Amino acid sequence: MTEEDRHAWERPTLDEVSDGVWRVPLPLPGDALRAVNAYLVRDSGSFLLVDCGWNRRESWERLEEALRQLGSGLHRVRWVFATHVHDDHYGLAGRVRQRSGAPVLLGRRERDSLIAFRDRPGEARQRTVTRLGQLAAGDVARRLEAAGSPERRPPADPDLYLEGGEALLLGERELEVVATPGHTRGHLCLHDRANQLLFAGDHVLPQITPSIGVELHLPGSPLADFLDSLERVIDLSCRLVLPAHGPVFSDLRGRVGELLEHHRLRLEECYQLVEAGAQNAREVADRLPWTRRRRRFQDLDPFNQMLAVFESELHLQLLAERGRLRRDLANSSIRYALP
Ligand SMILES: [Zn+2]
Repeated sequence: MTEEDRHAWERPTLDEVSDGVWRVPLPLPGDALRAVNAYLVRDSGSFLLVDCGWNRRESWERLEEALRQLGSGLHRVRWVFATHVHDDHYGLAGRVRQRSGAPVLLGRRERDSLIAFRDRPGEARQRTVTRLGQLAAGDVARRLEAAGSPERRPPADPDLYLEGGEALLLGERELEVVATPGHTRGHLCLHDRANQLLFAGDHVLPQITPSIGVELHLPGSPLADFLDSLERVIDLSCRLVLPAHGPVFSDLRGRVGELLEHHRLRLEECYQLVEAGAQNAREVADRLPWTRRRRRFQDLDPFNQMLAVFESELHLQLLAERGRLRRDLANSSIRYALP
């Protein structure tokens, strides 16, 4: 696939991917992800909006234009469903509600992150710094601080928190909410069984492996959750996957298989690096190749270095949970060794 083909999905369009379902890519200027897909699902005169882009003029105008082409407008949105709390999926939700009165739906387990981002952004930054320090990556924290973080508007509260297992009814259409923790704790997908569609959010992406547990670190095992969540969707009846980043695609089972295999290999690589003497997430991240271009850790920007260190830690943590490594917490640092 050429670079141009890889990016074709990002171009502004109103793409009817299935009967009554449109894909609307919204721009993420300056972000490596480049764009996020919002989906509009029609129910007679109104719409369900699945994910909604950053709280910026560009997303608003693109959505308004898409709805205008459908003979409608943002005031006709009846539900806003966000697959998770990240800004590219949830940012605009509050403004769409203001215009339309549509209730905003979000996974319950996103609540802690939402409140922290809204009320205590400084604490979120501080926790990231502390965490990187524990993983022997204080230098990454310093580079990250020096780079500064983008100005973000505080997120709005949702109207309803969902657990997974609920059904959204839109006329004849029934959409089942599927809890898929991993990318974030409260990540949700929507499954349209009759039409064999999966609105996949960032759970199953066609071109990149979703980052795991990019949120305030609280107890739990995000990678184990993510692998379980992959197993949970692999057998869903599905002819079309509607991801939040990348083109729609048909082979859910094949792509889930690739993601499971990616993590199986990563776990093996991490184990071998500890066997060869690496002692912490930073040393492992340093020695692993990153992104599909297999870039060196030192060539990544600070934000991606942070993701690489956190991801290495999650693999090491899972190896420890499975009893393959020993995990020691000493002098506020986390170290690994063979048992
Ligand atoms: Zn995303």
